[in-house]
Amino acid sequence: MNPNNPQKPSQRHRRLLSKGPKGPRIPKDRLAFDIDGVVADIMTTFLNLARQRYDKGHHLRYEHITTFYLEECLDLEPWIIDELIRELIDRPHELPVEPFPHAVPVLTRLAQEVPLLFVTARDRARPITTWLHRTLDPVPPEVIRVLATGDPDTKLHYLKDHGIQYFVEDRLETCWPLAENGITPILFAQPWNRQPHPFLEVNGWPELASLLFEEGGGGG
Ligand SMILES: [Mg+2]
Repeated sequence: MNPNNPQKPSQRHRRLLSKGPKGPRIPKDRLAFDIDGVVADIMTTFLNLARQRYDKGHHLRYEHITTFYLEECLDLEPWIIDELIRELIDRPHELPVEPFPHAVPVLTRLAQEVPLLFVTARDRARPITTWLHRTLDPVPPEVIRVLATGDPDTKLHYLKDHGIQYFVEDRLETCWPLAENGITPILFAQPWNRQPHPFLEVNGWPELASLLFEEGGGGG
């Protein structure tokens, strides 16, 4: 399916997305998370590093990142973009990368009930796993699982293999094949996914928490 030409949601999707009075019920043991743009706020770090290290992009704001193709939406030299992205992939644990607001209390509360599964398109699991262990400090490391697929298009197979039914993702293009194959995407709203779509969407972790816990709230 072409993400630029969204089809109408199928009957099945409408049923999956239909919200009852209390909203959809999400089985916690069938849920997994993307990391970058969902848990890890790497784009804020990206912009900060562009300013600090290269003295570039002082006028750029987070809201200017309207596509994954950074060279299309940010007037930064491509080599700077490449260098910073490489570094964010290779050593996020050594950079000032913050989690999104309330991600830590919500994930900490969830981890008290089920193991946490993260599925990332990164090609290496270890650096971002180190970052997760440190960031999710209250969560025992043994209940944090990270799968690095190396390719956003293969996330589907990993999710299927692990019996995942719901996946929190910020890349709209990744949501389409998931939905077509029986996995319900939960789009984590970001400036780069503001195109029309039929998916369940959350605006931040408190809203996500309200889909997971009876009384909502971020725990803590
Ligand atoms: Mg992402």
